[in-house]
Amino acid sequence: MERIILICVVSTCLSVVHAQKFLFSSRWGPRGYKEHEERGDGTAMDEIIKANAFQGSQVIDGSTNLREGDIAVSTGRRSKVCFARTCVWPKSVDGHVYIAYKMSPEYSEIETKMIKKGMENIEKDTCVRFVPQTHQRDYIDIQQKSGCWSYLGARGGRQTVSLESPSCFGIGVISHEFMHALGFVHEQSRVDRDKYVTVMWPNIWRDRFRNFEKFKTDNLNLPYDYGSIMHFGMYAYSQDGKPTIVPKNSKDIKLGQALSLSHIDKLKINRLYKCGGKDDN
Ligand SMILES: [Zn+2]
Repeated sequence: MERIILICVVSTCLSVVHAQKFLFSSRWGPRGYKEHEERGDGTAMDEIIKANAFQGSQVIDGSTNLREGDIAVSTGRRSKVCFARTCVWPKSVDGHVYIAYKMSPEYSEIETKMIKKGMENIEKDTCVRFVPQTHQRDYIDIQQKSGCWSYLGARGGRQTVSLESPSCFGIGVISHEFMHALGFVHEQSRVDRDKYVTVMWPNIWRDRFRNFEKFKTDNLNLPYDYGSIMHFGMYAYSQDGKPTIVPKNSKDIKLGQALSLSHIDKLKINRLYKCGGKDDN
């Protein structure tokens, strides 16, 4: 009898230890997510989800909230027009698309360098050029607000890109936010995405369902890009460590990108901004 009680006590202790391991993972996120992250195949969007996870709601301030996790949308009429059809930055007569920026003086020298690396990621093999703001009326204002987010496309006037330190300081994260500012939504928001990926609704946090909406996007006649820096990772917003987006037909396809733009991301920029002669790079 005593032995039976002892076995029960030991097994209860083991269960508690196991439950603690499950419930109190050292970092944010369910264990499946963490294990996935430790394999080193996390994406820029995984970092953004972590950085933005502690916003009590998706509201940045009274009139602005976050759509799809990191796209700022004002409740005003103008932004709705911008969300439905891309608002592009104007092209200069010399064939470049110049995007003026201002950077908060709060950033350290290293952070400033990283932001510039994120810009270079976009400039390489495209006609987009980021230039410090001087006289331009339309520009992006890079600041340390709460989390990592950007408005979509050119809105006219000053528009904020939030890169909070240190959580948003990965080069891939920085490039991802600038891609939103150029006018690109997340790859799995494409209207035709159900042909390429399966969204596993039962595995997603219920209050994040809206982050998986589809939009009537202009796909610029480019193929679905599983490896886009704008693609959610396989475990985005997972409530139980199980995948939330699974590629159709092949389990071996990797979703998303950690550091740089994919080849097709570059083509997207070159097609949307009609960068002459660069389309087939
Ligand atoms: Zn995003």
